[in-house]
Amino acid sequence: MALDPQLLEILACPDTHHAPLDYDSQAQTLTCTECGRIFEVRDDVPVLLLDEARGGPAAEDARGGSAPQP
Ligand SMILES: [Zn+2]
Repeated sequence: MALDPQLLEILACPDTHHAPLDYDSQAQTLTCTECGRIFEVRDDVPVLLLDEARGGPAAEDARGGSAPQP
């Protein structure tokens, strides 16, 4: 399953900058192009909540080298 491309176009980071999101269809995540937060897509529904996001400006140290390959 994949997200609707038209839906992807209107999705934006819930943070104040409302930046576009990069969709990773394999990981089922959306990554903010501005702050780097990672939002999960659960059952084809993007969870665009700052409380649920991973990564971001405060967690840059945790990024990189932790992405498992399928
Ligand atoms: Zn953002």
